[in-house]
Amino acid sequence: MVDAFGKCLSWREDEIAARMGVYPYYHAIEERTGLNEVRVGGRTLLMAGSNDYLALSTDPRTKAAAAAALRRFGAGTSGSRLTNGTLALHEELEAGLADFLGHEAALVTSTGFQANLALSPLLGPHDTLVADQHIHASLIDAARLGQARLRRFRHNDMAHLGRLLDAAEPGDGLIILTEGMFSTTGDLCDLPGIGKLAAQHGARLILDGAHDIGVLGPGGRGAADHYGQLPAVDVHTLTFSKCFGTLGGAVTGPERVIRYLRHHSRAAIFSASLPAPCAAAALAALEVIRTEPERRRRVLAIAERLGAELAALGFDAGRDGTPTIPVHVGDTLPCLRLWTELFEEGVFTNAMVPPGVPEGRALVRVAVTAAHTGAEVDRIVDAFAAAGRRLRLID
Ligand code: PMP
Repeated sequence: MVDAFGKCLSWREDEIAARMGVYPYYHAIEERTGLNEVRVGGRTLLMAGSNDYLALSTDPRTKAAAAAALRRFGAGTSGSRLTNGTLALHEELEAGLADFLGHEAALVTSTGFQANLALSPLLGPHDTLVADQHIHASLIDAARLGQARLRRFRHNDMAHLGRLLDAAEPGDGLIILTEGMFSTTGDLCDLPGIGKLAAQHGARLILDGAHDIGVLGPGGRGAADHYGQLPAVDVHTLTFSKCFGTLGGAVTGPERVIRYLRHHSRAAIFSASLPAPCAAAALAALEVIRTEPERRRRVLAIAERLGAELAALGFDAGRDGTPTIPVHVGDTLPCLRLWTELFEEGVFTNAMVPPGVPEGRALVRVAVTAAHTGAEVDRIVDAFAAAGRRLRLID
């Protein structure tokens, strides 16, 4: 008899990386010592890998809303949305999000991951789902849970998408699935191209706005707003763990679709609902997003400056006008080494290696927030300069 746990005993990659001194994951934050500072292993580090783009996780308004909701409702809901876990706060948030994104209705879930899983009932056995090759793990899992035929188009390749739509079963419903801003590489989907193909083929478009809703577009409504194409999106998913500075997620779309998901999505039916402090913080964040466009202008300006300075140093740094700057390294080991050197320099970034990114496309992901100061950007650039020279990645 083989031991079912044998795979765990033989898997030692984390130990090998740790022994080589290049293990970038699960470093516990002991305390948040400043807006962009954390203490890890007794050292104070500058955080440059957080998705808190608008710096709303520490904003006094989100914190006060969360604290008040904690006092009113307690720490948890102890029930699913379907049964005893729907709060008036969830409904208020759903109405606010639907209105914000120009959709009829919304369903709030406990995480952004669950918002994407909640899509799976839409992906029926008589549908073809055509998805970008770079979509997030949670969307891939939604596709696996759904019953639609799955086809993947090469990243942002409109000709390929067009061919896959042409080749779909004639009787199938068509759904295109992609992200507004891609999470690891920080680039945007080609929404004008996708919108055109969706209209030509009568396909529905589902867009994950996890990283872009709140920060992109003149109204902060995400990539679709950036392109002036909000009406092209039939269903949006989003998360509160990035621009909204808390936890939770939502699906927005037509009333009949959201009703269907409320009664068919296992995430809404069989998992406890979003705790009140998170729902209240998300509501407060939505108000800030609606009323303070200067926050997104600020974070985008900081990202623009940092991207330009990293590129000037000689790094292959992506510059797509988003708060995320991928620094492309290529192979896994040099990427882990760069992450480690930056960590030693006191800057906390994210190492993205396969299978999170394609083989040979490892990168260090830097993300900035509206609260990063000019001096902090200088520190990030200095750390990259020192680390990059030590590793001979730059001259
Ligand atoms: N979609 C995308 C594109 C993401 O990057 C993420 C989180 N990394 C999620 C969904 C899941 O969001 P959450 O962290 O709220 O579960």
